[in-house]
Amino acid sequence: MNKLNNFSTIRAADFSAAAERFATPVYVYDENLILTKCRECLDMPHAFGLIVRYAMKANSNRTLLQTITGAGLHIDASSLNEVLRASLAGVPYDKIMLTTQEAYTPAELDKLQDLLLRGLKYNVCSLRQLRDIAGFAAAHELELSIRVQPGIGSGESATRTTGDSYSCFGIHLSDLPEAAEYTSSQGIEFRKVHCHIGSGSNPNVWIQSIDVMLDIIARHFPRAECVSFGGGFKVARMPDEKPADLRLLGDYAKERIENFYQTTGRKLKVEIEPGTYIVANAGYAVARVIDKKSTGDFNFIITDGGMEINARPIMYGSRHPFYIMAGDTLKSSEFGDDPGEYEAIIAGKCCESSDMQTLTDDGYGYPVKMKEPDIGDLCVIGGVGAYCSAMTPFNYNSHTQIPEALFTAGGELRLIRRRQTLEQIVENEM
Ligand SMILES: *Cc1c(COP(=O)(O)O)cnc(C)c1O
Repeated sequence: MNKLNNFSTIRAADFSAAAERFATPVYVYDENLILTKCRECLDMPHAFGLIVRYAMKANSNRTLLQTITGAGLHIDASSLNEVLRASLAGVPYDKIMLTTQEAYTPAELDKLQDLLLRGLKYNVCSLRQLRDIAGFAAAHELELSIRVQPGIGSGESATRTTGDSYSCFGIHLSDLPEAAEYTSSQGIEFRKVHCHIGSGSNPNVWIQSIDVMLDIIARHFPRAECVSFGGGFKVARMPDEKPADLRLLGDYAKERIENFYQTTGRKLKVEIEPGTYIVANAGYAVARVIDKKSTGDFNFIITDGGMEINARPIMYGSRHPFYIMAGDTLKSSEFGDDPGEYEAIIAGKCCESSDMQTLTDDGYGYPVKMKEPDIGDLCVIGGVGAYCSAMTPFNYNSHTQIPEALFTAGGELRLIRRRQTLEQIVENEM
């Protein structure tokens, strides 16, 4: 098998080339697929305008930020540092909105205010944040957004749900009257109302959140001109998973927003904030099989990259497709290649019993069918473009952060982040 899945343009030989040029383990990203996903989001049906913000916490590499904003997306930043990082990548402040749990010291608040004057958009997520910024926003006639905790949520696991009563993101519905009272006392009004109900949301709940948000806007936000439904679009990393259908979600949102216009005379623009959807399946981790063991009950293959390059199995019990490089072809039992009889657990090299790429929800490794690799063969893990490079405990066991490479739309393999050095790990120690 040479083609990795239905939509990838990377070929097996590109992984060998990446391993050869940059050593293993290394992340390889597929620019064509990222661009396809950007277009799918920009093509989502809408009634009165659509802005797509890339949730940069999913993967914040400078080159990827440039690819994605170059395709026409704006940025959703989760911290002041993310705002500055996007700016360092060349993204103008007026294309960035900050949605954060951070609350600021006076010095940080000065910094935020400076950035707001340069065009940064701010999404108020708590009453404290509102009190900190309202006066300044009024004085400078800045348009603010508000993140509402809509009371419904959905994520791929409970740990990735951000809209229900177990989660503390945004201003809760019960605090909206207090927020409204405070804003009117300051002479400001929210122009955008935002929610983000979780990561890997059930599309049916995402649809419900559209109605919930329009109802909240009708009741509480008479001057809002824009609604953001956040991110959370499900992707299919494994062949048996079903991705969110953006056309279907967009059609529904469009119909409800046209309906809202008919009953209220208000034309709402829409924003969405995909992170996972843009980059998840465009990322591969290329590792090498460095050892093989058996405990009698189970076979294990040990690779030179595990939880420190993909912590999603250990954090969420997530499943990822993987491929064994046999000669110059990739074999994947998940994508239809005959696996043969061999079964093994894929383990990493960290001193951590759950450093495995296949884990049940309660933390046990489980074996998967694969072509039996030899020591030295490549093992490629798919679906690692989102929340892997950006979110792993990469210095655990003093392993160095691994490099990132991009397979460009022009067919060129390019290093976009060097491997960290041991000196860099210890450089701030005294
Ligand atoms: C994380 C996040 C997103 C993106 O979530 P995905 O599941 O990666 O699409 C969007 N908006 C906000 C506010 C977020 O915190």
